[in-house]
Amino acid sequence: EAKRAGGARHVMFEAAMRERAARRADIEAQLRTALAEEQLFVMYQPVVGLNPDGSTDHSAGVEALVRWQHPTRGLVPPFDFIGVAEECGLIDQIGDFVLERSCVDFMRWRAQLGGAAPRLMAVNLSRAQLAQPDWTAKVANVLARTGMPPESLQLEVTESLAAQDEQIQVRLHELKSLGIKLALDDFGTGYSSLSSLHLLPVDTVKIDRSFVCKADTSHHHRVLIEATVKVAQSLGMNTVAEGIETAAQLDAVRAQLCAKGQGYLFSRPLVSNALVEWIGANR
Ligand code: C2E
Ligand code: MG
Ligand code: MG
Ligand code: MG
Repeated sequence: EAKRAGGARHVMFEAAMRERAARRADIEAQLRTALAEEQLFVMYQPVVGLNPDGSTDHSAGVEALVRWQHPTRGLVPPFDFIGVAEECGLIDQIGDFVLERSCVDFMRWRAQLGGAAPRLMAVNLSRAQLAQPDWTAKVANVLARTGMPPESLQLEVTESLAAQDEQIQVRLHELKSLGIKLALDDFGTGYSSLSSLHLLPVDTVKIDRSFVCKADTSHHHRVLIEATVKVAQSLGMNTVAEGIETAAQLDAVRAQLCAKGQGYLFSRPLVSNALVEWIGANR
């Protein structure tokens, strides 16, 4: 009886796997079309400076976030296609596109806005990109081609990725030697910890939204934010609170002396022109 139930479960499992594989193949084919027909684009979310005097620096930086304008499904978030892109190898092309476009837009804002232009461009990386042997050379090439100053580019990796194998560590050090900045994304959700932060060649720690969203209501989460900021500061690292949605959350992370913030309270991700308008409006 138990064996029969197991067999039935097995059949169901196989059917689910087949369906999943078919769905992936479908997304993959559509992603190839998306790349060829330029359905992908980049939105930018402001990252603001939380000045000690209580004021806000609206030109501190932005984070580039990829989007897919699908012909029938509408706007597709990265969660729905980055994983597939990683599995089928398309992430390299997508990553190249996002990096190049971000640097081009950044330089255009500098020409348009001068001193009010964002000072930092954050771009997310996935494991497959960092694993490319020529990735560092590729980045150097984009910097040279676009005129992007290395110190204005911040590449973001998740803590589980950064803590992984030696090859990744080597790559991170190579990237640092170009003069660019590195950030540890979604801090608090992975496996590394405050005690191993000093081992990673990162300049900035981004405190995950799951902590920030409880900063005002949970003592436990507030203490974790406080500890992260203190350790990061003692190591000479910057801190960013991700996903600030309310004034109360902002007050709470400000009280913990977090240097920068990002979230819907300030702005949702914006297309390039809207970002220029947002900065103009907040000048
Ligand atoms: P992330 O790097 O942690 O980016 C922050 C995510 O939080 C973004 O979601 C942003 O829209 C969202 N967010 C910002 N403020 C708030 C807020 O106040 N409330 C809420 N609920 N959400 C907020 P998005 O754009 O959907 O991106 C999700 C993840 O996909 C990113 O997380 C990043 O890991 C990945 N991703 C995005 N663009 C790229 C890319 O070009 N390449 C790679 N490899 N990954 C990317
Ligand atoms: Mg990020
Ligand atoms: Mg993040
Ligand atoms: Mg996150």
